[in-house]
Amino acid sequence: MKPFTFDTPGSMHMEWGSARRLGELLASRFEQRNLLIVTDKFLHENGLLDPAKESLKAQGFTVSVFDDVVADPPEAVLMQCVDRAKSAGADIVLGLGGGSSMDVAKLVAVMLKSEQPLSELYGIGNVKGERAPLIQVPTTSGTGSEVTNITILTTGETTKMGVVAQQLYADLVLLDGELTVGLPAGATAATGIDAMVHAIESYTSAHKKNPLSDALAKEALTLLTNNLITACTDGSNRAAREAMLLGSNLAGQAFSNSPVAAVHALAYPLGGHYHLPHGLTNALMLGPVLRFNMAAAAPLYAELADHLLGKSDADVATRSAAFVEHMQDLMNRSGAPQRLRDVEVTEESLPTLAKDAMLQTRLLQNNPVEVTEADALALYKEAF
Ligand SMILES: [Zn+2]
Repeated sequence: MKPFTFDTPGSMHMEWGSARRLGELLASRFEQRNLLIVTDKFLHENGLLDPAKESLKAQGFTVSVFDDVVADPPEAVLMQCVDRAKSAGADIVLGLGGGSSMDVAKLVAVMLKSEQPLSELYGIGNVKGERAPLIQVPTTSGTGSEVTNITILTTGETTKMGVVAQQLYADLVLLDGELTVGLPAGATAATGIDAMVHAIESYTSAHKKNPLSDALAKEALTLLTNNLITACTDGSNRAAREAMLLGSNLAGQAFSNSPVAAVHALAYPLGGHYHLPHGLTNALMLGPVLRFNMAAAAPLYAELADHLLGKSDADVATRSAAFVEHMQDLMNRSGAPQRLRDVEVTEESLPTLAKDAMLQTRLLQNNPVEVTEADALALYKEAF
């Protein structure tokens, strides 16, 4: 067997409504009692945190909340959060929200314990020493950030940089489907498709695909494809919400070990130039990239078709086409915007986007088919 490594957070707990007894869950696992919650204004102000906070206080925790996280968090937001954590004397950090809040929480936990400046943390494996205890609680079913070891920060007008380190894996991940019930249909669709992209790109990743990431990606796709439409059309459906949350989590574990590729590489410039949500940009690029990757990934798509649609004696071309068609059909029915023009991307900007996509070498190297700048432009034109 080809050698491989698989890393993931130490512990997960899945339970509907478990955020309501967060204090009890944390008190039994951690000694620290001065907790900082890292979240965004919307979640804080709509009261989603209140039961969790009460439960923490009842267990003797001192709780501070930093709610200034924004999408695509800039460095300044992280540094404000670190200052808040230090001035509050926090010794344990909890990220609650979408990918941005959880990403910020990861680095706050590191910077509470370390004197290393942020500029030294960027890159792979540059974090030295230990971090403060870290708990992650996702409120969307998409990013999988609760189980990844990467934080992406916005460093300039359209530029981003990442910190990748073993220390960014959480100590505990809490999956409470009840927290995702309020997510509107549009965001449910976009984040759910993003999670599907994580599973697909992990399964077809060029170098680090392995038996564990494959098993997780397949189970993630089963959960996500069977429940996406119900979660979008009937947001309070408990079974669908839990399946999406678990599917997103499994896909996150898969791509944290077998990384994503061209869909994400082409999605990032759209986020950078147009400030579109991560999930939406991935949803917009999935169809064209799936068709482009068919040249090399058809046998893997055929395996996924067998897994999702049942075994068939048809040839690889037919089965892989059935897989791509199935994904496209789900996206069409999800109600997510389908074309770049629908989200006000201009045709004139496509060459700039293609040029920027070429900078995503970390992601492009994982794609099963090489992507040139001309290919990227053709993919954006197809998506337009
Ligand atoms: Zn993604």
